[in-house]
Amino acid sequence: MSTREQALALDAQDPLAPLREQFSLPEGVLYLDGNSLGVLPRATPARVQQVVQDEWGTGLIRSWNSAGWITLPQRVGNKIARLVGAGADELVVADSTSVNLFKVLSAALSITVADAPQRKTIVSERSNFPTDLYIAEALCRERGFELVLSEPDELPTLLNGRTAVLMLTHVNYRTGRMHDMAALTAAAHAAGALTVWDLAHSAGAVPVDLHAANADFAIGCGYKYLNGGPGAPAFVWAHPRHASRFWQPLAGWMGHAAPFEFTPGYRPAEGISRYLCGTPALLSLAALECGVDTVLAAEPHGGMAALRAKSLALTRLFAAKVQADCPALRLVSPTSDVQRGSQVCFAHDEMAYAVVQALIGRGVIGDFRAPDVLRFGFTPLYLRHVDAWDAAEHLRQVLHTGEWREPRFQQRHAVT
Ligand SMILES: *Cc1c(COP(=O)(O)O)cnc(C)c1O
Repeated sequence: MSTREQALALDAQDPLAPLREQFSLPEGVLYLDGNSLGVLPRATPARVQQVVQDEWGTGLIRSWNSAGWITLPQRVGNKIARLVGAGADELVVADSTSVNLFKVLSAALSITVADAPQRKTIVSERSNFPTDLYIAEALCRERGFELVLSEPDELPTLLNGRTAVLMLTHVNYRTGRMHDMAALTAAAHAAGALTVWDLAHSAGAVPVDLHAANADFAIGCGYKYLNGGPGAPAFVWAHPRHASRFWQPLAGWMGHAAPFEFTPGYRPAEGISRYLCGTPALLSLAALECGVDTVLAAEPHGGMAALRAKSLALTRLFAAKVQADCPALRLVSPTSDVQRGSQVCFAHDEMAYAVVQALIGRGVIGDFRAPDVLRFGFTPLYLRHVDAWDAAEHLRQVLHTGEWREPRFQQRHAVT
């Protein structure tokens, strides 16, 4: 296990260290929750102000053309594409992750059953993020499919001639465990099924190569590692082999081939743009672009590969120190680098919630995930090795002093 001096020495040689300057980090806070809400980029307030004052205030309706508002979903989409191994014009920003999941899952079901009506199941992971499972359940009910859930290791054995779609979140939100996207996609294809990948905890956090994995559909979140701000719009990708052959179930005018012809009868746009539905939330979209730019700023410093190397160093350091100092906590994230996303989680039956609250009381912000998980996200863009070390040290102190037992740390809030 490293010492604090060793952590500082790693920071002194870190080629990504200057990227931290892009962020407005509050004094006295160690932020380990960028996997839930990314930090505010310094560029965002001025950009949002410009959109409000100049583009909206002065440009008014003209800004849809003159400020390029109408093509912003594609423009920001093309930037995100570079982070996830998607090609140009294959990815757009639209709606929320939940809504995009509904759209791609519906499209994937339609494509598979057109060729093979006997396929009646969606396979997923039991511990997938609840909204993903709720959306899948609702679609299953509506369209006469069945949702089959399993433990991660058993997934390949559940793929068979009845499977229409394998729907997975690449990095699990509770454990940080990362699936082998290429291997599972190959297994799904071998069984005749399509794949839908949720990249909520992957985009901007771990290298993703949708083309190399031969994935079919993907969606992801704008407000986590992409630093787009609370409720930032999400993104959606379809492999070009599918992009013009599926029906978009939320057939809105922004996904129409020619929205300003105002013709009756829906004609979907060519390619991924059909995944737009209604008018985009421009202010949020402008903020998202600033957030995505903070990740792209790593490109001259080694890009996602360099971010990944640092993220692994941070999670390794934190996990090792906590395991050494806090034997009462059970590590639930994989110890193997290839299986671990950009977070470290521990479990404890009784004190998980109160320990997280006590840490927040010290300015060390992680989160609690019911029923028993303490979750710590590591964003290599703005976290230093010494931050990982200090956060682990705070955790050690909270446990060893019994500070977490204080009544004020037991009180439950609406958002955990
Ligand atoms: C964060 C997250 C979401 C969020 O969905 P919203 O529609 O933005 O609320 C969905 N799926 C997963 C796996 C997530 O981690």
